[in-house]
Amino acid sequence: MTELAERMKNLPPYLFARIDEKIAEAKARGVDVISLGIGDPDLPTPKNIIDKMAAEIYKPEHHQYPSYAGMLSYRQAVAEWYRRRRGVELDPQTEVLTLIGSKEGIAHISLCYIEPGAIALVPDPGYPVYEIGCMLAGGQAYKMPLRAENGFLPVFEDIPSAVAAKARLLFLNYPNNPTAAVADEAFYRKAIAFAREYDIIICHDGAYSEIGFDGYRPLSFLELPGAKETGIEFNSLSKGYNMTGWRIAWAAGRSDVIRALGTVKSNIDSGAFQAVQAAGIEALLGPQDIIPHLCAVYQERRDIVVDTLNAMGWRMEKTRAAVYIWAPVPKGFTSESFAEFVLEKAGVVVTPGNGYGAAGEGYVRLTLTIDTQRLREALRRMRDSLGAVSF
Ligand SMILES: *Cc1c(COP(=O)(O)O)cnc(C)c1O
Repeated sequence: MTELAERMKNLPPYLFARIDEKIAEAKARGVDVISLGIGDPDLPTPKNIIDKMAAEIYKPEHHQYPSYAGMLSYRQAVAEWYRRRRGVELDPQTEVLTLIGSKEGIAHISLCYIEPGAIALVPDPGYPVYEIGCMLAGGQAYKMPLRAENGFLPVFEDIPSAVAAKARLLFLNYPNNPTAAVADEAFYRKAIAFAREYDIIICHDGAYSEIGFDGYRPLSFLELPGAKETGIEFNSLSKGYNMTGWRIAWAAGRSDVIRALGTVKSNIDSGAFQAVQAAGIEALLGPQDIIPHLCAVYQERRDIVVDTLNAMGWRMEKTRAAVYIWAPVPKGFTSESFAEFVLEKAGVVVTPGNGYGAAGEGYVRLTLTIDTQRLREALRRMRDSLGAVSF
């Protein structure tokens, strides 16, 4: 067999493989498996966005190659959205880039700045693409543990200065996947000061920026003074507008970084389908009632999960944002043995926390992207199979 490249051999083992096998086994036995494992909005894309797409798809000018940086009108819509929702001013020409989903931008940014000997600072647990993008670029990821006692925020003072000196990218993600933690202004100020001291680019992933509960409004990194000079924010229509399948997103902020990312992308892809960008403009500048609606839906589901688990013996505080519950596993379990237990005994899929990094051991992630009836059923089954738990 043809030899695979070294970077392929270095890809981390797929930690969910064992769970996937068990899910397939359970389904084959006829178990009605309920998945709380997938972070993909269950509700449809709003009708005004679909209608816009339906009209735009007939326009022949959209049938040709799009421009590399994205339609100026889409980038203007992103800038206008930041102005309206966040009071942030951006130059659509130089400070905004269209992405085909933020995942590709997150993976590609490492190609701009990472090479052998260079380091990317990545959260652990974290969205796997930060580390993998760095690894595929030949660099080394330094894991910043996110611990409960620090509010699941990285502690910059704990990063050795020899590591910080070689670091070029710092990935941050709040509201956070998988912990659902949020970051306040003081944290972002610290991050910006640290990044400036060591000349590191902050890559903030704001995928859940619009999903907040109990009136809490997550910050955008770009709202902070100095943010635009220090780094970029990735964001996406995926979670805030139920558009994961559409593959439409952006990077915004520091212009030399936006230019570098655009250069890499122009050599790899040929831009996002323009009809999708037009639908994206409708999402960003059209009626925004989807956002409070989604916040209310996820908040109700969060209440169901946290209240039920707490009645079973957990002692969790209510999360303030995102679509996840990061639950510690009861005494006597590891992340994986707990996930296997609830799948075997309750037919419920939860994700073992160590799948997001070693520091995620001792937790499982439950997602809120499932209707309340199925959610209640999943929790009822978990309660019946687990009985009393202790920690
Ligand atoms: C869902 C998600 C994204 C969004 O990815 P897209 O490629 O824009 O769909 C980005 N980051 C995190 C942490 C996510 O959970």
